[in-house]
Amino acid sequence: MSNAAIQDVHPPAESVAAIDEFRNHIGGEWTRSARGKTFDNPNPAHTRDIVGRFQASASTDASRAVEAAALAFESWKRTPVSKRAAILNRAADLLDANVDRNARELTREMGKSLALARDEFLRTAQTLRFYAVEGQSLTGEVFPNDDNDTTVYTLREPLGVVSVITPWNFPVSIPARKIAPALVTGNTIVFKPSSDAPLSGFRLAEALIAAGLPKGTLNFITGSAAEIGPAITEPPVIRAISFTGSTAAGEKICRSVAFTTRTQMELGGKNPLIVMEDADLDHAVDLAVKGGFSLAGQACTGTSRVLVMKQVRIEFTKRLVARVKAMKIGSGLAAGMDMGPLATERQLETVLRYIAIGKREATHLYGGERLAGPGYDGGYYVSPAIFTDVTQTMAIAREEIFGPVLAIIEVESYADAIAKANDTEYGLSAAIATSNPKIMQSFANDIQSGTVKINRTTTGNLINAPFGGLKRSSTSTFRESGRTGLEFYTQTKTVYRGA
Ligand code: NAD
Repeated sequence: MSNAAIQDVHPPAESVAAIDEFRNHIGGEWTRSARGKTFDNPNPAHTRDIVGRFQASASTDASRAVEAAALAFESWKRTPVSKRAAILNRAADLLDANVDRNARELTREMGKSLALARDEFLRTAQTLRFYAVEGQSLTGEVFPNDDNDTTVYTLREPLGVVSVITPWNFPVSIPARKIAPALVTGNTIVFKPSSDAPLSGFRLAEALIAAGLPKGTLNFITGSAAEIGPAITEPPVIRAISFTGSTAAGEKICRSVAFTTRTQMELGGKNPLIVMEDADLDHAVDLAVKGGFSLAGQACTGTSRVLVMKQVRIEFTKRLVARVKAMKIGSGLAAGMDMGPLATERQLETVLRYIAIGKREATHLYGGERLAGPGYDGGYYVSPAIFTDVTQTMAIAREEIFGPVLAIIEVESYADAIAKANDTEYGLSAAIATSNPKIMQSFANDIQSGTVKINRTTTGNLINAPFGGLKRSSTSTFRESGRTGLEFYTQTKTVYRGA
């Protein structure tokens, strides 16, 4: 048992008896899987609580979803952009109206706190509204030329059928930042959420459909990647795939798709926080705790390596351990918890495996135990773990763990910190804690990372600013979010119009 503050916060099991079944949405119909199979979505805080029953779709269901999207494309493409935008706005209103129910379901299916789940749904509605506006002002360009009778300009056209494939950690905001720009620019969609948290994505699809999307425009399908993955990624009729998930899965998909399919892959990270000797140490501890342990370390931008200057390592570590010992761990439905359960049994196994590796290769300072007892039995709870004396070659310094594990690495200078921070195959997010303006300036240039944070956590990004990684954290094609998020879903035509 961890010596972190343990509370009896077990929520009552909800609707253990009656499990709601949720269907696919294909070609305008709410349908069951062709082979009649389903799978259950358990609550990671309390696995007897089944949040919903979903379709274990067959590849034939997936192919029908792709066909339906292809059939709907010409008409949706010609629908006036103001009408497309109005549907996004209506869906945002529906999501806002149901935010309490939706947030509770998100917490039950994924484990994050109710406050974070609520924020995620509000952010989702905000994303739909953002693209309703931005999508209406996306334009081409007009080019000067020597012939006064000719106008040369570009048109931005939708691509066609887009597959949207998403993970469980932000089960509604990540789908929204793909689906909203795809729809407003006139594409049709096949959307497959993660089987580990499909209900929040279902709620997003349901709101968009209730808001008036024509049949076939947005097709929602659940099932295993092995079964339906190839059907929604490999056919050349799929003109684009926007995927968020692990680097291994993203790479596999990229290698299997048609030459003409555009891909946007948002993948893993091994995000560093550098703590300089002139940093406000309490603030730096705050950045490490929030970046490393919010969402139980299950954010792609979560802090996993803390590179601390030699002069302050002992003091920083002392304060960090004290803060982490005081964290409250329990169900996301209970008020005042600092960290919830891991999202799945697979996550639990992976995290415990890395903690065992860390204990062999580094100095274990605190945490990393499977929590048991009142409030924890039946849930995937692990106490936040801290390792020190970590060196560059160790697995816990190199591999994405995606759990509540911080690796402290001592550094001797700013140059040493940058060299170690950049010594990774990933490049998603990186932060520095410093009070030196020169270092702040240099860091933005020196760090190999798509997101750069100065005196801010590695986690968190705006919906109106570009987001994506470098190296093996993203395909180096198109950024998500913000105005740039629209570009991926359109192609350019150049028109020479004579008199
Ligand atoms: P995952 O790769 O296992 O699965 C992601 C999604 O892809 C799921 O819906 C899954 O069913 C589907 N999938 C997997 N293989 C597929 C295939 N061959 N064909 C079609 N679909 C396939 O990832 P996960 O465990 O759900 O999420 C955790 C990972 O996601 C971490 O590596 C994390 O860093 C990453 N992530 C990245 C970002 C980002 O923006 N860069 C954001 C969140 C999570």
